[in-house]
Amino acid sequence: MVQQSLSNVHVLVLPYPAQGHINPLLQFAKRLASKGVKATVATTHYTANSIAAPNITVEPISDGFDRAGFAEANNDVQLFLSSFRTNGSRTLSQLIQKYHQTPSPITCIVYDSFFPWALEVAKEHGVYGAAFFTNSAAVCSIFCRIHRGLIEVPVGAEDLPLRVPGLPPLDSRALPSFVRFPQSYPAYMAMKLNQFSNLDKADWMFINTFQTLESEVVVGLTELFPAKMIGPMVPSAYLDGRIKGDKGYGASLWKPLNEECSDWLEEKAPRSVVYISFGSMVSLTAEQVEEVAWGLKESGVNFLWVLRESEQGKLPCGYRDLVKDKGLIVAWCNQLELLAHQATGCFVTHCGWNSTLESLSLGVPVLCLPQWADQLPDAKFLDEIWEVGLWPKEDDNGIVRKQEFVSSLKVVMEGDRSEEIRRNASKWKKLAREAVSEGGSSDKHINQFVKYLMSADKNGSLNVH
Ligand code: UDP
Repeated sequence: MVQQSLSNVHVLVLPYPAQGHINPLLQFAKRLASKGVKATVATTHYTANSIAAPNITVEPISDGFDRAGFAEANNDVQLFLSSFRTNGSRTLSQLIQKYHQTPSPITCIVYDSFFPWALEVAKEHGVYGAAFFTNSAAVCSIFCRIHRGLIEVPVGAEDLPLRVPGLPPLDSRALPSFVRFPQSYPAYMAMKLNQFSNLDKADWMFINTFQTLESEVVVGLTELFPAKMIGPMVPSAYLDGRIKGDKGYGASLWKPLNEECSDWLEEKAPRSVVYISFGSMVSLTAEQVEEVAWGLKESGVNFLWVLRESEQGKLPCGYRDLVKDKGLIVAWCNQLELLAHQATGCFVTHCGWNSTLESLSLGVPVLCLPQWADQLPDAKFLDEIWEVGLWPKEDDNGIVRKQEFVSSLKVVMEGDRSEEIRRNASKWKKLAREAVSEGGSSDKHINQFVKYLMSADKNGSLNVH
């Protein structure tokens, strides 16, 4: 058996080029680097300049839209994904070949599960392939079972609730929107199913979650494929602190207004501020933005609202001026810093999986306003399973009205239930930290992976250069 020394192990990490995918995969690269592995992130030309992290090399590959990425593809999902497959396969191959001429050839590709073609590229070059899922184990379980024909996409009320081993019964409100409305985004639905098309050929499969968070789901899921839970992939300073100076992800597709936010927060009393963000992709209806806006005003709370430039036109006329004593509205910030701040008492979130893990890791209570995709089951878990917040009811038009927003926010911020929620949030924070700390379940899985890569003898499937 040939033993590779740790410094010979070189992992190439390939995220989908969106903020919510770059963050956890880059964090995984940093974790591997902290264990002595050489880690390189391959990402599109368009996003490469937004990534800078100690000990991580960034290499551009092409999605065929090198100037502006998805926007340059006119937000056409099908076009973007097929162009990425063609150009990405070619340029990823070239990158592997380039490193094969150096003392640090690529040992393994850790690819975003949205790119099953990357596994084919890995195999062509005789390197290991590891799929990385950026959503919950629950969501993996749902889509994998649909892909394998083990459960059907519900078509009518008689098919509900959807029953998935290890998950609570899911009514239509808690279904991922691509499952509830399969025709809404057929290209995304196809991509979510396609993640499992060649998974049996992957050498490793990782999910950005942790064992104790989804213990029952994990039992059902690992009957489907041998996934390892390695999360939460949140910068080390907020969890175990073992990676020196690791206070941020090291990737930002927008410029954060950090100083403005922290100066503003400094003057606020502990747990008095509501932080609101709908992540990097969601676009709310103007009606929903207005309900939130008036709800915040009526609540009388201090609030810091991240509203991307493209969303700001949906604010009621003159709103900023009207609330200037209580609220700060910015286009982008460093979310982790805000969540970690003692002034923050509640996170109004769209329940993207990273935001979900960040709220749990930092012990911040949530008010859930999920909009689409996997955010709906995430909200159900936050509210009913982990009990760290509330998911207010929408009306028949799918809008959370001002009064519902105000009363739910009150429950999360004040009173007996609020204390219970805070206790639960502290519990998950502790468990998240344990998972990634030395000897924790996620840490063990990452160590197993590193150890495996050090052993080059795997039935001859790995080239030793
Ligand atoms: N984020 C940030 N600043 C903001 C809003 C979001 O840094 O103003 C980060 C957040 O910390 C998270 C990511 O962007 O890591 C969003 O990922 P998530 O899965 O929550 O949502 P998505 O953007 O994919 O819908």
